[in-house]
Amino acid sequence: MVRHALLAALLGAAALPFPALAQTAPPPPISVDRAVAALRDEANDRDDYAWDIVEGLTTEVGARLAGSAAEARARDWAVAKLRALGFSNVHVEPFPLKTWSRGYEAAEILAPFPQKLAIAALGNSASTGMAGVTGQVIAFDSVDALRLAPDSAVRGKIVFIDHHMIPTQDGSGYGQFGAPRRQGPTIASQKGAIGIVVRSIGTDHHRNPHTGVQSFADGATPIPAGALSVPDAEQLVRVLKRGRPVTLHLTLVSQAGEGTSGNVVADLPGRDPSLPPVLVGGHLDSWDLGTGAIDDGAGVAIATAAAKRIMDAGRPLRTIRVVWFGSEEPGLFGGLAYQAAHKEPYYAMAESDFGADRIWKVNFALGAARKDEARRIGAALAPLGIVTGVFDKADGSDIGPMIEAGAPGIGLSQDGTRYFDLHHTPDDTLDKIDKDQLRQNVAAYTAMLAVLTGPIVHPGATKEGKRR
Ligand code: ZN
Ligand code: ZN
Repeated sequence: MVRHALLAALLGAAALPFPALAQTAPPPPISVDRAVAALRDEANDRDDYAWDIVEGLTTEVGARLAGSAAEARARDWAVAKLRALGFSNVHVEPFPLKTWSRGYEAAEILAPFPQKLAIAALGNSASTGMAGVTGQVIAFDSVDALRLAPDSAVRGKIVFIDHHMIPTQDGSGYGQFGAPRRQGPTIASQKGAIGIVVRSIGTDHHRNPHTGVQSFADGATPIPAGALSVPDAEQLVRVLKRGRPVTLHLTLVSQAGEGTSGNVVADLPGRDPSLPPVLVGGHLDSWDLGTGAIDDGAGVAIATAAAKRIMDAGRPLRTIRVVWFGSEEPGLFGGLAYQAAHKEPYYAMAESDFGADRIWKVNFALGAARKDEARRIGAALAPLGIVTGVFDKADGSDIGPMIEAGAPGIGLSQDGTRYFDLHHTPDDTLDKIDKDQLRQNVAAYTAMLAVLTGPIVHPGATKEGKRR
C-alpha cells in the first residue's frame, strides 16, 4: 500500500504542468548592492560606535530602573550622546509611570534545616516590611499543578514553584518557563497564599536570582513574590524531599509609587521627508541588579551604531528614526506610549532586545507585496551567517504592539543560548559582551538599514543618486 501510494504521488508529480514544476526550482541568487556590502563589512570589521555607547551608558549611569532617578539620568545621557553623534530632532517624550523599587530582601529556612537562601523580589511584589512573613512551604512543579490544587491546601502558606528551564538558541524557553513568574503570584494570591517564591527563570547555576516583572491580575491582592537563584531552588527541593514540613521566613521590602519615564527619540533625516521612516531601537531602562549591559544597553547601542554608520556614509532616501524606549521592563510602557503618540506610518521597524550575541536568523513581516525586498535583505545578511526565516511574522518587545497593529516589522534573532544565564541578574554587566559578536549585530542592522532606506547619497556627490 505504501509503495502504491508513493508511486501514485510520483506519477502525479510527473504529470504536473511545467509552471508548477518551475515553482519548486530554487530561486535565482540575489545579488547584493556593492555599497550595502561595503557598509556591512566595514561595520563587521571595525565598528566601535556600539561598544562606545554600551560602555558609556553602563559605566556613567549603570542600572536604570524604570521610573527611577537613574532612568532620568540615562535619558539625559542619551540625549547628549545622540546629539554628539550628529542626530537631529533629539528629544524626550515623557510619560507617567507607576513605579516599584526594591528594598531589603532575604529568605531563610527556619525548619527543619535552618539556612539562608538567595532571593530577589519580583517586580510589583507586595512589601513584607522588615518584619517579614513566616509560613509553611507548599511546593508545585508547575503553574498548572498550582492551579489544580484546592484552595484549602494553599491558604496561609508560602507557595514554591519549581520548573526545569533549559537553554535554547531561540530563547523560546522564556515563554514556556516564564509562567511561574508571570502567572504564579496571581494564582497563589487568589488561593490565599501569604507569599510565593519561584525558581528563577534562568539557565545558569550561579547563586544569582533572576528578577523580572509580574503583575497581579485585577482583583488579586498583591502578596510578597520572589525568585530564588537556581541552586537555592534546587536546595529547597532537596530539603522538601526529606518529607518534613518546611518553614520559610521571607523578607521582601519594596516601595510602590508614581513617577515619570520617557522615550528618547532621534532622527537621521532622509532626503525625502515625505516618505515613511524606518524605526530602529532598543530599551533604555534596565533591571536594578546588574548594569543592564545585555538587557538592553547592547540593544540601543546596536540600533544607534547602525544608524550612525549610515549617517557617516551620507544621506539615505528615507529618514531613520532611532528610539531608546523607556520602561520596557515593567510592561512595555515605552512602546505603548510611543504607539499612542505616533499615528504616522512606518516603512519598517526593528528592535534589538535579546543581548549581544550573534544574530543567526531574520524574520520578516513586511507584507506579501514586499517579499522581494525581504529577500534582498536576507541576501545582504547571509554572509554574516544569518539565515532567512519566515515572511509573515516578526516580533520585538516595545515595537511588538505596533507590529501586531499592522506596522511592517523585521526581527533579527540573536543567539539566546547563554542569554538566560545572565538575564535580569547582577551578572548582566559589560564584560559579558563579546566585541566581535556585537560588531556582527551592528553589521546586520547596518545592512538592513542600507537596503530599507534607499540609496545613500554621499555629501561629496554632486548628482542625486550617485552612491558611495
Ligand atoms: Zn529587554
Ligand atoms: Zn529584560
